[in-house]
Amino acid sequence: MNELRKDATRGRWVLVRPAGRLEAGRECVLCPGAEGSTPPEIAAYRKDGSPPDAPGWQVRVLPEADPYFRLEWDLVREGVGMYDKISPRGASEIIVDSPRHDDTPATMGEEQLELVLWMYRDRLIDLKRDTQIRDVLISRRHKKPGVPSHHPYSRATAIPIVFDDTRQELRNAREYYQYKRRCLYCDMVREEIAAEARVVRVTSHFVVLVPYASRVPLETWILPRQHACLYEEALAPDSAADLARLLAGYFRTLVAGFGDPSWELALHTAPNLEMKVLPSEWATVRDDFHWQIEIMPQPERANRVGGIYVNERPPEEAAAQLRDGWPAPR
Ligand SMILES: [Zn+2]
Ligand SMILES: [Zn+2]
Repeated sequence: MNELRKDATRGRWVLVRPAGRLEAGRECVLCPGAEGSTPPEIAAYRKDGSPPDAPGWQVRVLPEADPYFRLEWDLVREGVGMYDKISPRGASEIIVDSPRHDDTPATMGEEQLELVLWMYRDRLIDLKRDTQIRDVLISRRHKKPGVPSHHPYSRATAIPIVFDDTRQELRNAREYYQYKRRCLYCDMVREEIAAEARVVRVTSHFVVLVPYASRVPLETWILPRQHACLYEEALAPDSAADLARLLAGYFRTLVAGFGDPSWELALHTAPNLEMKVLPSEWATVRDDFHWQIEIMPQPERANRVGGIYVNERPPEEAAAQLRDGWPAPR
């Protein structure tokens, strides 16, 4: 009995589900050689033409064993008295980032990271072919408190509604666009690069910055300098290599200079533009929304008072520390 229930007072969705029953065994089922212990793979990049569900993969995608969302469920919208609920039709996938059990984004190397970035694109495109999927979130946790260290993986979560965070971002971007006829993020990229104070690094394709109103001390955004609302459409060989290099450098900097903190990464890309509830819904999204990557180091230590984040390190200071800790490009 999994249900998405809407809290009408907060306008927020909650997934109600019984606790996971699956106990992780002692042997890692994500390591090469254990392919027989996982559900059949959804996709994989393989060298030398190795067959599916066998070793030889570089990145491998699996359905989550105890999924939050499932494609087999029918999408049902229901009223329960005054309340709304939806069946959690969708998908929860595990993107195994590397065949090496002890790899992290700081150790796995730029080529491996680039493969992961291409797999993110492939999964977004494939999942959005389903017209009952409205939004797909690609996310990754590193050192989640209370969770023993495990084989490195990212997660793709596809759902029949737009994630609350995405919806709010979309709304803000659209309002800015309606008023100014310019993309909020393109304006931000220009302004931040000119001001320099919060910029950590600039490359030909991206700017890495600590946002003006960062919620935690080391919050970091990676914004493409070229406008595009969809990551999966925008990723190209040169930008993918640039992004992989940036991510590798950033995560190595966190390990070397900041004590390898936990972090959470989220890829923000526009929702499924084929799937509209209202015909006019995404009228300007191609012009008003801008994909980006958000990294929240130590999200568990975020300090909030009545919903307001309290950040005790000025973003300009955090950006300077990240700049100083990140070795200059060769
Ligand atoms: Zn493993
Ligand atoms: Zn833009």
